[in-house]
Amino acid sequence: MSKLEILTLPDPVLRQKSAAIETVDDATRHFMDEMLKTMYDAPGIGLAAIQVGEPRRIITIDVAREEEEKSPLFLINPEILWSSEDERSTYEEGCLSIPDYYAEVERPAKVRFRYIDYEGKEQEREAEGLLATCVQHEIDHLNGVLFIDYLSKLKRDLVVKKFTKAAREKERQRQHRI
Ligand SMILES: [Zn+2]
Repeated sequence: MSKLEILTLPDPVLRQKSAAIETVDDATRHFMDEMLKTMYDAPGIGLAAIQVGEPRRIITIDVAREEEEKSPLFLINPEILWSSEDERSTYEEGCLSIPDYYAEVERPAKVRFRYIDYEGKEQEREAEGLLATCVQHEIDHLNGVLFIDYLSKLKRDLVVKKFTKAAREKERQRQHRI
């Protein structure tokens, strides 16, 4: 099983809107297995397919603590059905596509969502705490939204600038390795 490459800011692919999955077949499952491995290796607790360059509505999540059993979640075509707009919670979020940057984001504390699972069956469940935050963060990715979009314009511009500069420097170095 190969490891996929995670795209980082300011890659414009991250701003693409992902398309719905029509059928869940073995190729889809193989891709989801690769996504999960990539997420665990990173390490991270959530990954959207667009972060590895695939504009498809697929997410892998595992918010279990290290000492607990691994409990991966595969969400295909996930949709938020309800969120607790009055009850909100704040988490310091990070993102595998924005390495080593963290900021507090406020979101609804609870969500109910629908999705297609690994076997291709439709499921519905509720989440709160870290899982609720993670599901919302990952579904945002499918719509080209990043958590830095919730920050002030000033903060966001600073982060984008920093990553743009770093990407340019990396490219410059690459071009000198003849
Ligand atoms: Zn992310």
